[in-house]
Amino acid sequence: MIEAILSATTGVKAAMDIARGINTTITAAEVAEVKIGLLDRLSDAQVALSDAREETQNQREEVSRLRAEIARFDQWDAAAEKYVLADTGRGAFAYVPKDMDPDPKNGHWLCPNCFSNRKRSLLIYDQRGPYTAMACHPCGWEVVINGRKPLK
Ligand SMILES: [Zn+2]
Repeated sequence: MIEAILSATTGVKAAMDIARGINTTITAAEVAEVKIGLLDRLSDAQVALSDAREETQNQREEVSRLRAEIARFDQWDAAAEKYVLADTGRGAFAYVPKDMDPDPKNGHWLCPNCFSNRKRSLLIYDQRGPYTAMACHPCGWEVVINGRKPLK
């Protein structure tokens, strides 16, 4: 944007220099030539200002997007502080509410994989043939809580 403003300033200065150079003894042809020169410089300045205006608008949109992202991060941090990583007792850890019983029957578990990506995904009790798991449907993470998972 600074480049565009400098370009516009240069164009306006050039137009002003041309206007200052006009004296009363010039011919009609010289007036026409000066007029064309002035219009060219002013047109260049207008284009540069239009570019600067567009760039300013783009920067405002980016600032707005970044502010919204910061707000989402702040909201996530506030929500994440309510959870703690706890041992599931099955060889894996999951996030559980700090103020609740870590047993999923009495509360809920959150997927540690999704949690690390700033998403709260509930682990769902899921009977999977010979075993039962607490599973995350969005990412597929699971912890076996009963039975044995067959080897692939
Ligand atoms: Zn997940």
